[in-house]
Amino acid sequence: MKSVDVLVIGGGPAGLAAAIAAKKEGASVLLIEREARLGGIMKQCIHDGFGLIRFDEKLSGPEYVERFMDEFYALGIPALLQTFVTSVCEKEDGFGVTAVTREGMAEITARAMVLATGCRERTARQVFIHGTRPAGVFTAGTAQHFVNLMGQMPTRRCVILGSGDIGLIMARRLTLEGAEVLGVYEVKPTPSGLTRNIVQCLEDYEIPLHLSHTVTRVFGQERLEGVAVARVDEKLNPIPGTEETIACDALILSVGLIPENEMAERLGAALDPRTRGPVCDDRLMTSVDGVFSCGNALHVNDLVDYVSESGELAGRAAAAYRPGQREQSLEITPDDSIGYLVPQRVRRTGGLEPAVFYFRSREILKRGTFTLRADGQPVFEKKLRNLNPPEMERLVVDFGDLSLDEGIRLTAAIEKGEA
Ligand SMILES: Cc1cc2nc3c(=O)[nH]c(=O)nc-3n(C[C@H](O)[C@H](O)[C@H](O)COP(=O)(O)OP(=O)(O)OC[C@H]3O[C@@H](n4cnc5c(N)ncnc54)[C@H](O)[C@@H]3O)c2cc1C
Repeated sequence: MKSVDVLVIGGGPAGLAAAIAAKKEGASVLLIEREARLGGIMKQCIHDGFGLIRFDEKLSGPEYVERFMDEFYALGIPALLQTFVTSVCEKEDGFGVTAVTREGMAEITARAMVLATGCRERTARQVFIHGTRPAGVFTAGTAQHFVNLMGQMPTRRCVILGSGDIGLIMARRLTLEGAEVLGVYEVKPTPSGLTRNIVQCLEDYEIPLHLSHTVTRVFGQERLEGVAVARVDEKLNPIPGTEETIACDALILSVGLIPENEMAERLGAALDPRTRGPVCDDRLMTSVDGVFSCGNALHVNDLVDYVSESGELAGRAAAAYRPGQREQSLEITPDDSIGYLVPQRVRRTGGLEPAVFYFRSREILKRGTFTLRADGQPVFEKKLRNLNPPEMERLVVDFGDLSLDEGIRLTAAIEKGEA
């Protein structure tokens, strides 16, 4: 039986940052990763653009994560690779975890846990595409894995459904590898991915983006032979008579990411329906005492720099956590102008350290003011420009010595500015 202060589940950028931060605070740490190598999804993100905020450098995914892996190993933090957690339970003084390792079963007890399990991609089943089930329907991440890690081309002529960032990046990658990307079809009237990816991955390669369109059917028995696409109305329903058939050998799906929270659910942590990640306080503790969440397991980030930031915060807080010492917190209720807000709760004793908030606007706004109110009175305001739902916003809120009394109602909103 191994006993540690902090057990980190997941060895991507969030888990590595959490483990490093907890270790630096003096905690004994163990990291569990189900794959054979650390690095998470960064291993297959071989394009550049990572680390601009954190390192002021344009790194590839592997280069970015290597910096954390070097520090992780230099600090002598142990990691169990190819290890799966089979059960987890709460104990009087922490948690009991059973895992299958390469050497057999392992029993681990931990005072605190950090869940850094990343996210998974939505699949064809989740977007209800009709037709047969031929080979050739891939998520963009699977296509990325094939091309970047296995050196295999999954397609010669494809259609991409959804304008999420991974699909946009794969449109460029597949084009550079000689495939014909016939178009990206997005059901919404606006793109889901970052503007920079629309420009650098589609426009620069003359790949058409068809907004307000969707794939209605796939054709083919053994292998995909074509797809039907159609224009959609304002309720996103296909418009009869607009359907056209496109011959292709693959349909690549980039229709969204969902935080991976099986373990949080098993522990009974409350999930936020807006983020699909756990509800957390400003130290990223979930509704289960001693369980912290970070990175894409907490909410889907668009920049890895913020993933690492949340990992560090969760790791430090997990190291400091002692059973039975939860600080009381108040819920913040965002109104409909906000897509989501993380953290969803803030500890009542202000003045300890400023809280970092991540949020998305629900609509495109040239100008807006993010306002936090306590019982209707503004306690924090920040003017913002160029708000766009695909682009996450980050704000540091210093509550100073404001004491948030029990029963105070905290609300958040983005108030529209003049265009
Ligand atoms: C397919 C894909 C491609 C992406 N491409 C880009 C990109 O090009 N650019 C970009 O900025 N962002 C990209 N992202 C977003 C990217 O995920 C984040 O920027 C960052 O990698 C998130 O870090 P993380 O540590 O939260 O999650 P991840 O990097 O996903 O790491 C999570 C780790 O947890 C492990 N794990 C999960 N469950 C368990 C378990 N039960 N037990 C043990 N280990 C577990 C996983 O194996 C994985 O190693 C991509 C995401 C996906 C899914």
